[in-house]
Amino acid sequence: MAEFRINISNLSEGIHEHIFEAEPSKIGLDKRFGGTVRVKAVLDKSLRQICLKADITAEGTFICDRCLDDFKWQIAESYSMVYFFSDRSTVDLKKDEEIQALSPDTNYIDLDEDVRQYILLAVPRKLLCSEDCLGICPICGVNRNNKKCSCKNQTADSRWDELKKLTHN
Ligand SMILES: [Zn+2]
Ligand SMILES: [Zn+2]
Repeated sequence: MAEFRINISNLSEGIHEHIFEAEPSKIGLDKRFGGTVRVKAVLDKSLRQICLKADITAEGTFICDRCLDDFKWQIAESYSMVYFFSDRSTVDLKKDEEIQALSPDTNYIDLDEDVRQYILLAVPRKLLCSEDCLGICPICGVNRNNKKCSCKNQTADSRWDELKKLTHN
């Protein structure tokens, strides 16, 4: 059964609020995600449709691309979805992720898959423990966020200078 499941079989018209919590693995998130995934779902039911606004919070432990250290990262993401009732079995809609058709005999809306997708989309391509992460020293390999090393940080450049000298001679 879905973790984030809303019973809509006898839903009266108007606003309904649901708060859900689940372990990340229960909705198919990988091991990077820890803690609890929380979803606040506000539904606005009218005759032909249900408008959903979902606020998601989650937490993950990621590896910094620059210093290779673990860091915790809080995810806060929101999305909206319009579910509309349609008695046609195939709905010729453009593939729009913000709209989903529900058959009139549907009793539940399951949010698990959408929540999972939105959390994964919220993870940035470039993972940095902080914007000004100093990274790893390319010479001695220390994490420069924790330790200052005495390596000359111009080594790469001075090598270029050597090369320039050679080519100019
Ligand atoms: Zn870092
Ligand atoms: Zn160093």
